[in-house]
Amino acid sequence: MAFSGPGDFRTPWLKRGPGSFNGGVDPRKLFASGRKTLSFEFFPPKDEKGRHLLEDTILSLAPIGPDFTSVTDKVGGSQRHHTQEICAYIMEKTRIPAMAHLTCLGATRADLRRILDDFHGNGIRAVMALRGDPPKGAAHFTPTPGGCNYSGELIELVRADGRFAVGCASYPDGHPEAASAQADWNVLADKFKRGADFSVTQCFFDNDGYSRMLDHLRATEKEAQVIPGILPITNWKSVKRFCEACQSHVPPRLRALLDPIEDDPVACRRVGMETTIRQCEDLLLRRGAPGLHIYSLNRSTAAAEIVTSLRLLNVF
Ligand SMILES: Cc1cc2nc3c(=O)[nH]c(=O)nc-3n(C[C@H](O)[C@H](O)[C@H](O)COP(=O)(O)OP(=O)(O)OC[C@H]3O[C@@H](n4cnc5c(N)ncnc54)[C@H](O)[C@@H]3O)c2cc1C
Repeated sequence: MAFSGPGDFRTPWLKRGPGSFNGGVDPRKLFASGRKTLSFEFFPPKDEKGRHLLEDTILSLAPIGPDFTSVTDKVGGSQRHHTQEICAYIMEKTRIPAMAHLTCLGATRADLRRILDDFHGNGIRAVMALRGDPPKGAAHFTPTPGGCNYSGELIELVRADGRFAVGCASYPDGHPEAASAQADWNVLADKFKRGADFSVTQCFFDNDGYSRMLDHLRATEKEAQVIPGILPITNWKSVKRFCEACQSHVPPRLRALLDPIEDDPVACRRVGMETTIRQCEDLLLRRGAPGLHIYSLNRSTAAAEIVTSLRLLNVF
């Protein structure tokens, strides 16, 4: 059975009631063993075709055995129910915990508490607490009156609720609005102080930036766990567009490697994926990464390829 889409809001996977699978992401258990964690991120699809693709992707990736999955909150906070619905679908069909992303956008604190009640009622036990980006065309984030100004405030709100593990966002290149990368990493330390259990990074391609961020963070937050977010390089032009949208830094050495072959899709994918796998290997073996969070872009092939390769290399 499919999960529903716009205009067809059935809820087959929602409201499963007591006794159903408890999709807990327990951060203590997750990191305590020292075993590297694996997680996949999905986003709510736009239409019916995207929905079928996502269902196939979820079911194809499940046998790989991720520790958890996460589902983004649609930009602008619209159609939040789809995030929950997809989380519920994942947990019902695969028994893999699903973390729901939640942004401060367009919601008062009372609204956010109501959403948390809905999350809990639907078996969700982990929340990625985010501020959210300004809506398309807006230069700045405008807080909702009675809502949260920064993710730190939302982290506190979710922590105070007491029913959820709490994730937060981090930026090895620094958040684009921050005065400097260091200023943003201070904000990251503050997110841990306010109650975040772990963090997942924005996609990045320079592992030195990740190491610098970890060093900075661990000066005050010794136990902080930051899972690198990995964007598989399958289509270089799309990756550049994605990075432009989220203002992630693309190192010149990567441009020099991939720009000349960007019109040869086969060569570009081969070199791009090789680069991604080496980046992951370095993060796991030499940079102290506690695991990998793969931005699946709702496709299974590249994500599975990365994990298979790393398992063959015995690093995962
Ligand atoms: C792993 C990950 C998942 C994401 N998922 C989603 C999603 O599902 N939906 C979505 O819409 N967007 C998502 N985003 C994008 C995110 O919403 C944007 O990057 C947004 O611009 C910032 O969110 P944040 O939670 O990092 O904000 P914040 O932590 O609030 O930071 C925003 C800016 O304010 C600064 N700042 C924060 N707190 C303070 C303070 N107390 N004083 C002064 N300055 C401060 C920070 O340095 C930063 O420059 C995701 C990003 C990441 C990395």
